[in-house]
Amino acid sequence: MNVTKGRQLYEGKAKKVFETDDPELYIVEYKDDATAFNGQKRGTIVGKGVINNKITNIMMTYLMEKDIPTHFVKELSDRETLVKKVEIIPLEVIVRNRATGSFVKRFGAPDGMEFETPVVEFSYKNDELGDPPINTSQALALKLATADEIKEIKKYALAINAAMRSFFLNIGVELVDFKLEFGRLPGGGIVLADEISPDTCRFWDVKTKEKLDKDRFRQNLGGVEDAYNEMLSRVVNKAL
Ligand code: ADP
Ligand code: UDP
Repeated sequence: MNVTKGRQLYEGKAKKVFETDDPELYIVEYKDDATAFNGQKRGTIVGKGVINNKITNIMMTYLMEKDIPTHFVKELSDRETLVKKVEIIPLEVIVRNRATGSFVKRFGAPDGMEFETPVVEFSYKNDELGDPPINTSQALALKLATADEIKEIKKYALAINAAMRSFFLNIGVELVDFKLEFGRLPGGGIVLADEISPDTCRFWDVKTKEKLDKDRFRQNLGGVEDAYNEMLSRVVNKAL
């Protein structure tokens, strides 16, 4: 499949999105820019764009094998991937297997507390409002998604969690929590979109409990690039 990269439509915090000569396809380009705390902390993680592109594409391919529909079409280069154009549903879908991050801040749960059943929650994807937490009836009132779409999103989120937990356990990594985005295809139907990477997931080494994700950047723990590279090499070796 040959596509030509067209006009840049959008530059986000971590990626750029480009039109192509196919009206149903976009190219996403991953950057090394890193932000945290709603853009208040900024920096660069050298090589992050290449790593997140690769990890995302391996995970999307793995999930498609498990019957999860995704936007992934084809990796074009180190930093560029061809994806199906979707209308992003403005909900950040967060799945948690342990309490940490904002869950601990909001509810005072002990950091690292393990959940018997995974937690699914939503934030309203809106930078100006700081991505506030939102519940199902609020999302319905704002017409962000239909009841059927929310039901389907929850079902996919839990299936993705189960599949990804076993993938990562196999490479000695615990999937603590993560964020997903879903989109509507022009012809109807919902697919998993955006990315799955150390930017959007919390990964803890099973043995050492060392953090292998963006928390190293958020919390100034050092070894940020090493952690991203470690995740890349484990994921690539598993996929081979
Ligand atoms: P942000 O917008 O939060 O700064 P990024 O820098 O990752 O995030 O920008 C990528 C943007 O592209 C996000 O807004 C994301 O929702 C959107 N996006 C991801 N996949 C697709 C897709 N298949 N079609 C359309 N938009 C997408
Ligand atoms: N997350 C994300 N983008 C966001 C907010 C959260 O990818 O804008 C991910 C984050 O990396 C973590 C999970 O979602 O894996 C849960 O994040 P949390 O709500 O604990 O927020 P944080 O502590 O990052 O503010």
